[in-house]
Amino acid sequence: MTQKHPKGLGIIFMTEMWERFGFYIMSAIYVLYMDKELKFNIATQGNLYALFIGACYLFPLVGGYLGDKVIGAIATVRTGAVMMAFGYTFLALSSHNNLLFFYIGLFLVGIGTGIFKVNMTTLLSNLYHDRGELKDSGFNIYYMGVNVGATIGPLTTNVIGILFNNYNMSFWAAAIGMLFAIAIFESGKKKLIAVNPHRTAAHNSAPGSTGTLSKAEYRERVLTLLVLFPIAAMFWLPFYQNGFALTKFADISTVKVSWLRPEVFQAFGAIFIILLTPIILWIFSKFREKGKEPSTPTKIFFGMNMMGLAMLIMVAASILGGNKDQNIMSPLWLVATYFTITIGEILISPLGQSYVTKVAPPSIQGFMIGGWFSATAIGVISSGLFGKIYDSVPHHSFYLILSLISFFASFLVFISMKKLKKYGG
Ligand code: GLN
Repeated sequence: MTQKHPKGLGIIFMTEMWERFGFYIMSAIYVLYMDKELKFNIATQGNLYALFIGACYLFPLVGGYLGDKVIGAIATVRTGAVMMAFGYTFLALSSHNNLLFFYIGLFLVGIGTGIFKVNMTTLLSNLYHDRGELKDSGFNIYYMGVNVGATIGPLTTNVIGILFNNYNMSFWAAAIGMLFAIAIFESGKKKLIAVNPHRTAAHNSAPGSTGTLSKAEYRERVLTLLVLFPIAAMFWLPFYQNGFALTKFADISTVKVSWLRPEVFQAFGAIFIILLTPIILWIFSKFREKGKEPSTPTKIFFGMNMMGLAMLIMVAASILGGNKDQNIMSPLWLVATYFTITIGEILISPLGQSYVTKVAPPSIQGFMIGGWFSATAIGVISSGLFGKIYDSVPHHSFYLILSLISFFASFLVFISMKKLKKYGG
């Protein structure tokens, strides 16, 4: 194999890493800040939390549209990044007596994040227009950048918390992270490809046209993605129990370990991504050398089964003692669960995005990636709603339902395989 990854990958990797650094600082302290500094009541905290996450995952639809049809991916990334840099600054300057700045900050960060992220995916995809067979591994490498940011962000907050006991300083750190992101992006944007090379000139000048695709193919491609999106939502539903049911299991069912606080278990996800991605990439590269790399839908199928399996581990952990809520279970149960979930995540999150970029009609690529993130939003919301029954049923039933949902999704992938492989195999 003589093909190499494009130079722009490093730019996308580093830009996204710094953006995620800020985002995961925000995720780590947002609710705590509203609670302890702003003294909001729990209902307001919950509403603002849902509103913020909703904006982050629904505005990609708008961002995708802006990138596809209005100002292009590069300008949309820049706009989103600048909004976030200002947004974190407003948050840093906000206080109990200056709530206006808090709301302005929230607005800027929520919308900025949404329109930024989707266009990073578009730009990454464009880099692989002439080396399609490396696209999946490019998306996997990019996803490591996401998770390096997701690891160092909360660690930074932790250090700031210990040294200064001040949330506003963490928001400053996020703002500085965004300055790094902007500097890296602006200095390296020459290495990026602004317009999707699969779009024709005719296409660009005729908004609303289906470009070089026939109407039937255009429709079929969109329909294929509409099959995938509910499946994606069914992955994120159990996944986002990381901040809820799995954290509760860490808190009330798992043996207390002095150096391992319940909320820290979530960090295993990001750390396992960084450790496991190179191994998985190595395995796929060996298959590729033999011309036998599994198709993206096949990888997604395996990913869904890993999630089903992970939830079965939790069923076992619940039956074997977790149900008693007596802090008697070994932390290794959760570590094994996160390990298994993470293999699923590596196969589904970056590769799902890679898949969308392959199948989407080129003229609406960004918008369709926005659709992928909206499916994520539905998964996140369902996860919160489903979490409400955690205390009303035995834990093993809770996890069994999640496992069945995951296996059902993998069944859907299986029976749609032919359709899924047609354009994105
Ligand atoms: N951890 C990933 C990220 O922050 C996953 C986000 C998602 O698509 N749910 O990019």
